Amino acid sequence: MSDKKDIRALTKDQLRDFFEKEGDKAFRGNQVYEWLWSKSAHTFADMTNLSKETRTMLEDNFVINHIKVDDMQKSSDGTIKNAVKLHDGLIVESVLIPTKSRTTACVSSQVGCSLDCSFCATSRLKRMRNLNPDEIYDQVVAIDNESRLYHNRPLSNIVFMGMGEPLMNYNNVLKAIDKITSPEGLGMSPKRIVVSTSGVPKMIKKMADEEVKFKLAVSLHSAIDEIRTSIMPFNATFPLKDLREALEYWYAKTKNRITYEYIVWKGINDKKKDVEALIEFCKFAPSKVNLIEYNPIDDGMFQQAHDEAIDMYVNMLEKNNITVTVRRSRGKDIDAACGQLANKS
Ligand code: SAH
Repeated sequence: MSDKKDIRALTKDQLRDFFEKEGDKAFRGNQVYEWLWSKSAHTFADMTNLSKETRTMLEDNFVINHIKVDDMQKSSDGTIKNAVKLHDGLIVESVLIPTKSRTTACVSSQVGCSLDCSFCATSRLKRMRNLNPDEIYDQVVAIDNESRLYHNRPLSNIVFMGMGEPLMNYNNVLKAIDKITSPEGLGMSPKRIVVSTSGVPKMIKKMADEEVKFKLAVSLHSAIDEIRTSIMPFNATFPLKDLREALEYWYAKTKNRITYEYIVWKGINDKKKDVEALIEFCKFAPSKVNLIEYNPIDDGMFQQAHDEAIDMYVNMLEKNNITVTVRRSRGKDIDAACGQLANKS
């Protein structure tokens, strides 16, 4: 690997300083910044409004560590999965999910994951490292390009529901979102971004204090500690009481509705008492429950509950004025659905 610096680790001010120190105009930094971010240049040679000397000088000092889409798979339902190679050879996956009205990018925040949810394929990979802000940003750019190419429209939404736990790489996720929403990046509205978390109470409070503008989704799956710990072991460290307290804090500060992701499994959380606990857990704030379809990952330990159990959830939640949606999986045939990202190919 080269010992040159990653130019995209520099802020705009640092780039301006660099050019001044080189005896050039600070303004040159703005030009380069624009090439690097809003124009997503992959090489210095692409930067055609700079002189040949300037480009060579940049080449001598820096590298542009762009991700590379190594493999692209297309599902029969239009879903696309990218296997993305990072500069150090590690691979993460991201997914483009088209519906009638929107194109959503599902992006990864870590290589692997440190949580070990027993129903998720990503947990089979150990966490190798956090992604840098530019590696997260590049996944979004790649999917935006694919959306324009294959669906004739730009990307409209982003969900941090790929590999990894975004709140355990909070600073880099936040920096990436800053770039995604900045006019100097992609200029997307933060309201179209959802950060999905298994629930790290301390970080949820921090997000509330920082008054972030994106939306929050919590992967709950059970509102009973004993059950939740058995399928999401880190719940032993961050029990429901702490999660609930953090969410109350979040709601008090942001007044944003909270979305819960929830899978109903046969014999695990398909009883009336499970729904009652869920209702009790979310009643402190306006809530929405997404009942998501389980995507089997291998050993048959988990099975999607019967339709009757789903109907019971829907009826009881609606009776208690909790919004509920039943979400179908997309891209299952290429292992691109929730919880199936495991670098198989
Ligand atoms: N760590 C974050 C984001 C990644 S998981 C989080 O936990 O929210 C993205 C979503 O996929 C989560 O709601 C997760 O619970 C869900 N998921 C994991 N495995 C799944 C599976 N096999 N089938 C369906 N959804 C799954």
